[in-house]
Amino acid sequence: MGRIKILDQNTVNMIAAGEVIERPASVVKELVENSIDAGATEINVYAEDGGIKLIRVVDNGCGMDGEDLALAFEPHATSKLKTSADLLNISTMGFRGEALASIAAVAKVTVISGCTDSIEAARYEIDCGIKDDVRPCSGDTGTTIEVRNLFYKMPARKKFLRTANTEMTHIIEQFTRIALAHTDISMTLFHNDRQLYRLPVGEGARERIGSLFSADLAQSLLELQSTERNLKLSALLCRPQNGRANAKFQYFFLNGRYIRDKFLSAAVREAYRGLIEPDKYPMVFLFLQMPPQNFDVNVHPTKIEVRFDDSNLVYSQILALVREKLLSIDLDVQAKLPKSGQMPASQESQDIKQSITGAMVEFFSQNRQGEAPQRHFDFSKIAKKSDFAAVEQRDRFYEKNALQTAPAPQQYLQIHDSYIIAQTEDGFLIVDQHALHERIIYEDLCRRLASDSAARLESQKLLIPESFELTPAQVQILEANKDLLDRLGIELEPFGPGIWAVQSFSSLLSGIKPVEFLIDMLDVLADSAGRIDSERLLHKILDLAACKAAVKAGQKLNPAEIDKLLSDKNAIERVSRCPHGRPTAIKFSLAELEKQFKRT
Ligand code: ADP
Ligand code: MG
Repeated sequence: MGRIKILDQNTVNMIAAGEVIERPASVVKELVENSIDAGATEINVYAEDGGIKLIRVVDNGCGMDGEDLALAFEPHATSKLKTSADLLNISTMGFRGEALASIAAVAKVTVISGCTDSIEAARYEIDCGIKDDVRPCSGDTGTTIEVRNLFYKMPARKKFLRTANTEMTHIIEQFTRIALAHTDISMTLFHNDRQLYRLPVGEGARERIGSLFSADLAQSLLELQSTERNLKLSALLCRPQNGRANAKFQYFFLNGRYIRDKFLSAAVREAYRGLIEPDKYPMVFLFLQMPPQNFDVNVHPTKIEVRFDDSNLVYSQILALVREKLLSIDLDVQAKLPKSGQMPASQESQDIKQSITGAMVEFFSQNRQGEAPQRHFDFSKIAKKSDFAAVEQRDRFYEKNALQTAPAPQQYLQIHDSYIIAQTEDGFLIVDQHALHERIIYEDLCRRLASDSAARLESQKLLIPESFELTPAQVQILEANKDLLDRLGIELEPFGPGIWAVQSFSSLLSGIKPVEFLIDMLDVLADSAGRIDSERLLHKILDLAACKAAVKAGQKLNPAEIDKLLSDKNAIERVSRCPHGRPTAIKFSLAELEKQFKRT
């Protein structure tokens, strides 16, 4: 009896603090967000000893009068919500009314705040929940909050803090996230009196990335802007060849708030698939704007996660936009020739150099004339237009014309039955025929299948069904993947005990030996069982199909075949890396040649 008690308010606040205030960086986040909500145009952040000793945030926002100041530190005190209905329409960074109460429960806090309504500013001090009186003092409009000795009365929490340097890294990360999303606010960050960042207003996200990461990197990012339906997107994307070894450099913002979201991450991963090397992660900055009614931010104490009403729509919109952007750029790898006078490093590069020289001689002596360009579709216009109609228009163009009518470079030569040298406007390309063809087929298959789960490849009855043997385990796998086979246009039938026969096969993959493909496919399916989702599995299988259907290295191609390959490359424009992320073509500019031959 009498064992149950209602906790006193200070204990409640300390428990709440456990959720939102994990370390100094959380304090910085909450205070700076409050300054933003107060309409500040300038926010200065000072930290000492990684913020463990002191965090001071100074803003020029609307400030608070003495009465509000005392209230601000009460639990559930907020000026940002009036009724529960407002929860559905949140446009401020804060709304839970618990940050200040939580911080004041676990540190010594001093605030000075002034607003335009009163002549004097007000000062308020709270030491781990123990409140002083609000006193008048002098001060400008705006708010200065100092948070000292975080967790000093809570040894168990303090023990979890890391070194000042590590804590400072976390503060920089929080500062970075906020600074990227609020380029209209001038911001500085100091550590132990040393200025780490000074970010003026008037610069865009790219300049901020330049100041916060690296100027070179910022310069190289691709830019994407789009507004469609309820989603406005502005993004900066790294080029596929500049991938990073981990996924840390993916920044997603929704209505000015940094978020983590598995749908957004998946969309980005998918958009770069096949363009970036498999163990690399793209560096991306995605800024999304959506009406607040279309998602819920009230699902996580620090609001780092949100719940979209229609996450599938967001996923597919982002995927389409980013992919479209990546495919609109010239992804051919720029050739790196050895500097003149310098010996090539290896026998391999010696060989390549010799073949190139040999090929060049032949190339210019043969000087073949290809077919005149036919109808040409202007992709550049579409790359600039970001609406879906344009994407559809482009896809329809592919449907009708792809792989047939785009103009091919007019002069080319196959060497070693493996590489094609093709003249371009300002130099020449060396194309890896297998890698390029593989890429073309892969993209074609993806276009037909990956966007629509009901789509299937056209199937063709084999004149003579091909039979083969399967183990019971393999039969299991087949049963489990009936759908996938169906989508690929493959039809199998039992043909006797343990024997199956291929009745139909995709007409698109007519170059493949059906049984050989099926056996390999069963291996992939067995390998991936339960480990990857059906979408990734489909891509793996398409990858396999493309590899098998593509022309091989060492295969002699006739002029018509080469023509076709090169015009497909132009038509698809997305062909510079095969599904494994290897380049499909290397570009040489005339300028490079002139340098090599010492003509300049
Ligand atoms: P929330 O931000 O969720 O409303 P907080 O505990 O962070 O809750 O802040 C409580 C209230 O204090 C805010 O709603 C706001 O009215 C006021 N406030 C906090 N920081 C500032 C500031 N820097 N300038 C002006 N008002 C502030
Ligand atoms: Mg707040």
